Amino acid sequence: MRFDVVTIFPAMVEQTLGAGIVGRAIERGTLDVIVRDLRAFTTDRHRVVDDVPYGGGPGMVLKPEPLFRAIDAVEIERGSRPFVVLTSPQGTRLTQEVVERLSRVPHLLILCGRYEGVDERVRSRVDEEISIGDYILSGGELAALVMIDAVARLIPGVVGDEQSVAEDSFSRGLLDFPQYTRPAEVGGGAGGAPSSTGLKVPDVLLSGNHAEIRRWRKREAITRTLARRPDLLEVAALDDEEQEILRELVAQQRSRAAE
Ligand code: SAH
Repeated sequence: MRFDVVTIFPAMVEQTLGAGIVGRAIERGTLDVIVRDLRAFTTDRHRVVDDVPYGGGPGMVLKPEPLFRAIDAVEIERGSRPFVVLTSPQGTRLTQEVVERLSRVPHLLILCGRYEGVDERVRSRVDEEISIGDYILSGGELAALVMIDAVARLIPGVVGDEQSVAEDSFSRGLLDFPQYTRPAEVGGGAGGAPSSTGLKVPDVLLSGNHAEIRRWRKREAITRTLARRPDLLEVAALDDEEQEILRELVAQQRSRAAE
């Protein structure tokens, strides 16, 4: 999959993209990411990308022409019309569902705003505005990185184990089950020091009984989702076994509440 990012801080985006799973996928060529400096698309000697807002008021606004030129340049150079995303707190809220939709786009161009945002006319060239949450960032770079990271995980070959992606929280509308690694028991005291009550891994995970482990994990995932994010269960795609577990848990909750 192709990504282009347009920003006034290319180093900030490039450096972060180099690490971890995404970095390796870029090295292997599974992901093709080009980060572009918005200043390269200015035509004046001082490479100015911002200007004061019409009508007055504080702050600066990103000028439209450099962004238009950047979009044109990406289209010409890549030979494909990208799906253009503008990072914006006013956009569609990014959820795993939106991430899945974006992962099916062959070529994504992400525009990073700064200052008070971008000139409103830039929106005429934008396919979708996306927000990563109800808070204000100082620029779109972190939002672009969040989007690329989340989308990249869904591209075949990026995460080594496809099963792990399929089991992640939200992928089927459930939170993930709890994970443990060695040792089987750690001290529960300060700094992991030994104490009379050590912290143990649930016995079932050490049992080697795969059917039981699978059922325990399902139960834990549903228990957590019910406790932390019951809203997710309204639209979750549960199999028969999970539906049965959910009915049991809800019945237990009701009988406890009635006591
Ligand atoms: N004045 C604007 C906010 C500008 S913040 C407003 O109230 O709508 C500067 C830039 O940071 C934005 O142009 C956008 O690119 C980015 N940004 C800020 N918050 C964001 C969020 N929650 N999600 C995605 N991008 C965000």
